[in-house]
Amino acid sequence: MGNDLRSCDCFCRIEAWKARKYITSRCHKLMIQPLELLNYLPIEAPMANDKSMIHGNCLCGAVSISLQQHKPSISACHCGICRNWSGGPFLSLESHETPVIEGEEHVRSYASSEWAERSFCDVCGTHLFYKLKAGGFHAISAGLFKDSGNWPFELQVFIDDKPDNYTFANKTREMTGEEVVKLFS
Ligand SMILES: [Zn+2]
Ligand SMILES: [Zn+2]
Repeated sequence: MGNDLRSCDCFCRIEAWKARKYITSRCHKLMIQPLELLNYLPIEAPMANDKSMIHGNCLCGAVSISLQQHKPSISACHCGICRNWSGGPFLSLESHETPVIEGEEHVRSYASSEWAERSFCDVCGTHLFYKLKAGGFHAISAGLFKDSGNWPFELQVFIDDKPDNYTFANKTREMTGEEVVKLFS
């Protein structure tokens, strides 16, 4: 069985992030990450048991988040909305698994656009995740997870929105907003 996008017949969960045309879902058969789709790279389809449960929590512990993840990695978004929300680039774990949330009564959400919302703990204010209203895409704050310091930092998006006064030394894949749009228009 071919493991690349061209042999995939199930685009059912691939959605365009309306305004930015940013691919935010992955193929549920191949379990490929959204930004792997961009390069059409041949990828390995992980075995079902190749996932482990990861756990994170907010500063006060009122909200905890658990999800299954295959090879967790970190992405940074430099867009102005993320920087306004986070105080800097938003470092996150991108996932299409709907996380299991404990303490959901403490999760407050703000609609930051017509298509997405950003959630936080109403006790301690910790930012929890960015979530698309349609579909299951979550960008969960990397800081919730104690292990996130061991995960590879692989991708920076909206690099052209990054201000000049900081730059990560890490060598990651980078994408401008325009590049993302071009790929999907
Ligand atoms: Zn909290
Ligand atoms: Zn952003």
